[in-house]
Amino acid sequence: MSSRKELMLPRSARGSSCAATIKAALEDTQLRPEVLHIVGAGDAERSMDFEVLASALPAKARVVLVGPHAVGAGKEPSEELLGPELRADLEVSVFPQTYQRFMACQEDLPPPQLVVLFHPGFDVHYFAWYSCLRHWAEQRVPVLATAYRVPGGLGETPQTVRAFLECLVGTGGGAGLWVMEEENPHAIEEGSFNAGYFVTLGSQGALPVLAEEMYWPLYQALQKLGHPFAPRVGYLDLEHEQGKVSSKNLNLLAAIAEGAMRGAQAGEDGADEEAARGFAAMVLDQVIGAGAGQTWLDSGFVREACPSCGAGFDSREWHVSVCPAAGKTALRAGEEVLVVGLEKVPQLNGQRGELRRFVRPKERWVVAVKGREALFKAANLKAA
Ligand SMILES: [Zn+2]
Repeated sequence: MSSRKELMLPRSARGSSCAATIKAALEDTQLRPEVLHIVGAGDAERSMDFEVLASALPAKARVVLVGPHAVGAGKEPSEELLGPELRADLEVSVFPQTYQRFMACQEDLPPPQLVVLFHPGFDVHYFAWYSCLRHWAEQRVPVLATAYRVPGGLGETPQTVRAFLECLVGTGGGAGLWVMEEENPHAIEEGSFNAGYFVTLGSQGALPVLAEEMYWPLYQALQKLGHPFAPRVGYLDLEHEQGKVSSKNLNLLAAIAEGAMRGAQAGEDGADEEAARGFAAMVLDQVIGAGAGQTWLDSGFVREACPSCGAGFDSREWHVSVCPAAGKTALRAGEEVLVVGLEKVPQLNGQRGELRRFVRPKERWVVAVKGREALFKAANLKAA
């Protein structure tokens, strides 16, 4: 054991609910994953009942906690894999940054056999989660997601999470939505925390590269339940001032409006700019309150945008943690890069090239290598 302060916390009620919920889902699916990624991890996950979790996993199973708050809220995120710490026969490691950064930096680790997300807030953080959800669906990694039930009946419920997942990955027999449990017997806090849980496996159809292509179907699916779908573009830390819900918070209004505009303009029959602005204003009225849309339109507020991927952000640092154009290092057009980690054409590894531009619809960089242009995933590039 290192002398470092322990990564995990003493067991808590929330942590016990989390462990019991994973165990229940593993019984439902008959899965015995040797590698488990628990994503968006914070104090609840760090205070898991590891005895209960270990009883549902093979001996020496590897658990990786991933998330900017996985070493505690308010700590600086880092891209270092910490641990492992031995907990009830499980090897528990921590990656205190987003899953996007985990994928870019730690691709040598064995892939997960189960991904777990405790009430990730898909509807609000949709644009940040989408690339991860698409990746897991393509890799056919089972994903366990729990739902929170907001007391008072407004906001997320197991029904809204179910509708979201049904729309995103479809339903049916092992491809799509696999387990649907709207009443979790292991919920606590009067049924609000881990209120329901769901397991997905793959997707019924191919998911589009761009999140906005799925915006409108999701908007309609949630609208049927009376739930306003108003996801924000960018990483928003809800514990931060910038995330506060108020019609005076122009950062928030602009982040929601950007998502709505992207959704309205997506696809071949997408709306024009003016119609998209009108739609965004309506979404703001619906989710923040009457007049919020007009406040945003009148403000003329323009967010700073990433020169590579085009997404708006409140904080450049946080944007890099979810930017699809960020590779092993943050990347910008004009920079010299090294090609790394290619498996199919390993002879290109170690080659130098120059970044030309990021092609958003393909999520690839155009790189000039030896006088020719080729497309590369950001994860296969780093600053030279
Ligand atoms: Zn970007």
